[in-house]
Amino acid sequence: MQFSEIKGQEQAIHIIERAIQTQHIAHAYLFTGPEGVGKKKAALAMAQYLNCTGKAPESTQSCGSCPSCIQAQTGSQPDIIVLEPDGASIKIEQIRALLSKVSLRNYDSVYKVILINDAHLMTEQAANCLLKTLEEPTDNTVFILITSQIQNLPITILSRCQQIQFHTLSPSLIQEILLQHYPAQQSRIGLTAALAGGSMHTAEELLANDDLAQTRQDFYQLLAKLDTMRPAQIISWCEQWDKNKKMARTLLELGQLWYHDVLLTVMHSDSGLILNQDYLAELRTQHAAPEHLLHVLQYFRTAAEQLEYNASPRLVLEVVLLKTQQLISK
Ligand SMILES: [Zn+2]
Repeated sequence: MQFSEIKGQEQAIHIIERAIQTQHIAHAYLFTGPEGVGKKKAALAMAQYLNCTGKAPESTQSCGSCPSCIQAQTGSQPDIIVLEPDGASIKIEQIRALLSKVSLRNYDSVYKVILINDAHLMTEQAANCLLKTLEEPTDNTVFILITSQIQNLPITILSRCQQIQFHTLSPSLIQEILLQHYPAQQSRIGLTAALAGGSMHTAEELLANDDLAQTRQDFYQLLAKLDTMRPAQIISWCEQWDKNKKMARTLLELGQLWYHDVLLTVMHSDSGLILNQDYLAELRTQHAAPEHLLHVLQYFRTAAEQLEYNASPRLVLEVVLLKTQQLISK
């Protein structure tokens, strides 16, 4: 893995490259940011670079062909250790086993690099056990903790790590990457990129999901006639998404795209800006005041936040659709 393979994270990569160029390597890093934006790839690139024996002086690229690079690329470099959650958590036994490997002499490498993926899933005991090691760093050992939920890491751990922030990817970048990797799916890529919420991981999941097209059709048919529906019909439609947080998230994104397009339509904007080009006819039947539509968009954004705070998917959808109905029927 090379830094140049990580797209859309120039700022984070720049900080890492500067650290390795000036040889100011911290003992512990925390790569933080949304899921599926390149944090683990960046950690693997850093691990590979630190142990590359064939790199050109001053270069931030590893050579890709020395024994360490070859092992790193196949995941078999013994001094690059990747710890993943065991089920729903990272347990103290895992951290103990990891630390016993850390205390061994390095095989052939300059650095021992330990990646802890989804570090927020460490149990309290696991985190405490790791903390002791972070407080007494060993030379030439680098910990890279990776998390999408920094708020769930103990402050004691945070204070021992240098944080590097990763950001969501732009829809246009996601579209570009998807087109490179899945050219056969070209017709679905624009919508997928718009729905991915800035995450490549989500984008690839959506692309692999054949149900999405059907769900989108059902949902847009509902939204197109929302103002004439009875509340009981809306509530009954929402029932099917009980406990399906992932799909509820997608529906809330779809809702924002729909009302974005309705807003453009009622304002007679250039129809080329409409995202749901295949629904132009339905969009043109929609009537609502632009100021109400702006409120509706805000409802959907708030609903998406509530969903992340573990509100029931079904309730979140019910509330946002009923409130939207009230407003656009005015
Ligand atoms: Zn190399």
